[in-house]
Amino acid sequence: MLNFTVGPVMSNEEIRKIGGDQIPYFRTPEFSKIMLDNELLLKKFFKADDSSRVVFMTGSGTASMDASVLNLFTKEDKILVVNGGSFGHRFCEICDVYELNYTEIKCSLGKTLTKEQLIPFENKGYTAFIVNLDETSTGVLYDIELISKFCKRNNLFLLVDSISSFLCDPFNMKELGVNCVITGSQKALALAPGISLIVLDTKAIERINNNKPKTYYFNLKDYLKNGERGQTPFTPAVGILLQLNKRLHMIEDEGGIDAEVNRAKENAKYFRDLIKNLPFDIASNSLSNAVTPLTPKDKTKSAYKLFEILKDNYGIWICPNGGEMKDKIFRVGHIGDIKKSDYDKLVDSIKDVLNKNLW
Ligand SMILES: *Cc1c(COP(=O)(O)O)cnc(C)c1O
Repeated sequence: MLNFTVGPVMSNEEIRKIGGDQIPYFRTPEFSKIMLDNELLLKKFFKADDSSRVVFMTGSGTASMDASVLNLFTKEDKILVVNGGSFGHRFCEICDVYELNYTEIKCSLGKTLTKEQLIPFENKGYTAFIVNLDETSTGVLYDIELISKFCKRNNLFLLVDSISSFLCDPFNMKELGVNCVITGSQKALALAPGISLIVLDTKAIERINNNKPKTYYFNLKDYLKNGERGQTPFTPAVGILLQLNKRLHMIEDEGGIDAEVNRAKENAKYFRDLIKNLPFDIASNSLSNAVTPLTPKDKTKSAYKLFEILKDNYGIWICPNGGEMKDKIFRVGHIGDIKKSDYDKLVDSIKDVLNKNLW
């Protein structure tokens, strides 16, 4: 199997081996030590301030999106939410559930947020800004410098979902003034799904400690308190957290975060060069290194059908889209344990599909 989706993705063999081990009991000094080490390395890779903290949530990325919104904001907030696809839409739905006061900034599919779109929101009393750094559904990487400057100028609390962008695109939490950033285990961390992470700066921690959200499992105050000694309030996905520790050390040993981002960048470039003569257009005007969204030049061809052909006849998974994008866009991921030769295989298979008129 060759998996070019955007998660779950292919894991390295050493990581998979850990998945076969017995799961240890976790209320021990040994496990606490590993968790504190996980926190330290994640802060380093996000380029977070020393005073920041990391919450380890057992649940997929959406659990951390939900918990962050619920714990960080109150009805007093006036929030801006960038909505350019499924994941931006998800933040709007979360705000709806908690009856928060928000305004959507709509971006057309495949189009990044522009300076002009932000102008109407300057000095309008907003208090917070929410964005998915890479809107994975359309493969659009927003301009985080632009957003950061806008938030600093207007004194907005900045919540960033970097679930698919982490380890792929350059990011400096402290310099950008990002207050809270989220990622998940099954994207570029290339682990099993089940863990997501929330990095919080001191402003975010203060908001959480002053808030009284109506939730039991998602009360981040408890996670922060327990995290001081390297623990979680409830039984976490222990096995994935052990794999996380191995993965973080592997990144560190192979040159750290900048080298890791560079690997994603090179994979993305290699693939994008390979497909230059194939009958697809790139469907985003601002690409992340995590994924390439493609649309068939021939509008009568279904993107979803190509996904099915590659899956059923070649054992290769590209990433299909849902909803209105189902037939228009498919995506090829650059995350997980992928080599350049894997892209050669993918492109050869696509050429074979075209030559044999299978599509
Ligand atoms: C994958 C992803 C999520 C989280 O999805 P889950 O299925 O809950 O893990 C959220 N935001 C973005 C940008 C993503 O790519």
